[in-house]
Amino acid sequence: MHLPSNLQDKTALITGSTSGIGLGIAQNFADQGINIVLNGFGDAAQIEQERQTLESKGIKAIYSPADMSKPDEITDMVNMAHEELGNIDIIVNNAGIQHVSPVEEFDPAKWNDIIAINMNAAFHTVRAALPAMKKQGWGRIINIASAHGLVASPFKSAYVTAKHGIMGFTKTLALEIAQEGITCNAICPGYVRTPLVENQIADTARSRGISEEEVINDVMLKAQWTKKFVTIDQVAGTALFLCSDAAENITGTHISVDGGWTAA
Ligand code: NAD
Repeated sequence: MHLPSNLQDKTALITGSTSGIGLGIAQNFADQGINIVLNGFGDAAQIEQERQTLESKGIKAIYSPADMSKPDEITDMVNMAHEELGNIDIIVNNAGIQHVSPVEEFDPAKWNDIIAINMNAAFHTVRAALPAMKKQGWGRIINIASAHGLVASPFKSAYVTAKHGIMGFTKTLALEIAQEGITCNAICPGYVRTPLVENQIADTARSRGISEEEVINDVMLKAQWTKKFVTIDQVAGTALFLCSDAAENITGTHISVDGGWTAA
């Protein structure tokens, strides 16, 4: 069996794809001939270089600087994708931020940002892109949730709330579009060593009063029974599988890529 199925010339909009998991998904998708809408923050020259590297694989790649906490900018990003690349066939709602703090010290502005970027942005992106996707009768919507969409950890109240929320959105949306040729699923990774996690190591050490080494071994990898970080390519490979014909009847659910974390 050939996996994934022919995805050549399809277009994927991947939010938060200038770094980490999103960038890895963009690179793996481009290898399959999928055109890419890059999005996210970062150094302009570096982003342009990533865009060109993607295009050197023989696909079209455009970049939108839309801020995922701003619904109007999300609509502009979707319109730009339609204008420059035609339809959007695949949406990967991936942009995310983290903040680690006890509830009573949690900065309300940070709470709002996490809910806006990690949860609300998926709604705004899908809302803008869905009418055209329905017309073409094929689509894949993949929400990068987290093991924290299934279980909690202390000091991550906003993140855990947003990730549990996106799991509910995934299921509801899947039912609404089940007969449109469009699936909607979540991927729930465990710890992947991206900039988002690197930043958490110091924050978590502070919140728990332990060393950074202890955060890695006794907090992060303690939950991962394989004792290994998940790799970006493993998450990207799971996303590609969800785009394949074999996954046509997988909808409204999640795939955990967490080294056994949520089995315990
Ligand atoms: P990362 O920090 O490497 O990348 C985050 C991306 O989101 C960057 O491109 C950044 O520019 C972008 N972004 C942040 N705020 C934005 C905004 N307002 N508008 C547009 N883009 C914005 O992080 P990552 O680890 O690759 O995380 C990607 C996703 O995977 C997140 O949703 C995260 O919650 C999820 N996740 C990560 C892990 C992990 O261990 N790294 C585990 C489970 C889930």
